[in-house]
Amino acid sequence: MKIICIGRNYTDHIKELDNVMPTEPVVFIKPDSAILPKEQDFYIPEFSDNIHYEVEVLVKIKKVGKHIDQKFAPNYYDEIGLGIDFTARDLQQQLKSKGLPWEKAKGFDGSAVIGKWLPKSNFENLNDLNFSLFKNDEEVQKGNTKLMLHKIDDIIAYVSTYFMLKKGDVIFTGTPAGVGKVEPNDYLSGVLEEQELFKLKIK
Ligand code: ZN
Repeated sequence: MKIICIGRNYTDHIKELDNVMPTEPVVFIKPDSAILPKEQDFYIPEFSDNIHYEVEVLVKIKKVGKHIDQKFAPNYYDEIGLGIDFTARDLQQQLKSKGLPWEKAKGFDGSAVIGKWLPKSNFENLNDLNFSLFKNDEEVQKGNTKLMLHKIDDIIAYVSTYFMLKKGDVIFTGTPAGVGKVEPNDYLSGVLEEQELFKLKIK
């Protein structure tokens, strides 16, 4: 499986990192080795002094698709989740300034936290989902999918023109404002519409 991530999908987060507003989705991929095994702690890698959390709504692809029309996109997923796109911000800044790909800063081992999945039928409107990240029980990120520049079905249509989607692929739909650094012994938990979908400890 592969993990397809959308960058710069919430205006407030684009502003906090001083990035330019994109006209098309910013897309990058994490390898399957990036998935943090369930119930495992996250170890800060030795190559970074500035690992940031980014809480994001996730979509799990249920069948093969290519060049998917936006109006048929809902047929390609049944489950919605929440996760963290851990980012080595210091390394990413270095790579960005040289115009190089972000892979090392985004795709390292353990950088993809994938929480519990919920049936999309649990929700009335996927374009109005509240979600939050708590660090040591304090709410540090708060978002709603209605603030996404590119909505779930548009993302599926867009990415499937470049990458064939396969059963089990996961899409990370971008993070709202409030990203920040993790320190050893921090404790993170993610909540989607009042339900806690993941919790983990930083080591
Ligand atoms: Zn992200």
